Amino acid sequence: MNYGPLKLKLTGQKTYCHHCEQYFNSVYAFDKHRVGKHVPISEPAQRLCLSEAQLRSGGWNKKGGFWLTPKRAPVALHTRQGKAISERKGGRGPRRA
Ligand SMILES: [Zn+2]
Repeated sequence: MNYGPLKLKLTGQKTYCHHCEQYFNSVYAFDKHRVGKHVPISEPAQRLCLSEAQLRSGGWNKKGGFWLTPKRAPVALHTRQGKAISERKGGRGPRRA
């Protein structure tokens, strides 16, 4: 089966995200591009996708249409993502620098 706007074939661990219409080279990469808190189904969803610009600035690379996670430590990327989310949402309480 081919998926998404580019009709790419998903082989092995490759995945396609229906939310942001991006392709990922692995399930791991897919997981990493979804950020935010998991909340009960009764609450508004807080999980969202990193934008293409956010992926690029986070050091991700696209190869053959599929996103690859950054080569450098993923921990640093995660911290930055968390910050970006709370800023965009208008903050949940006071922000520490
Ligand atoms: Zn997505």
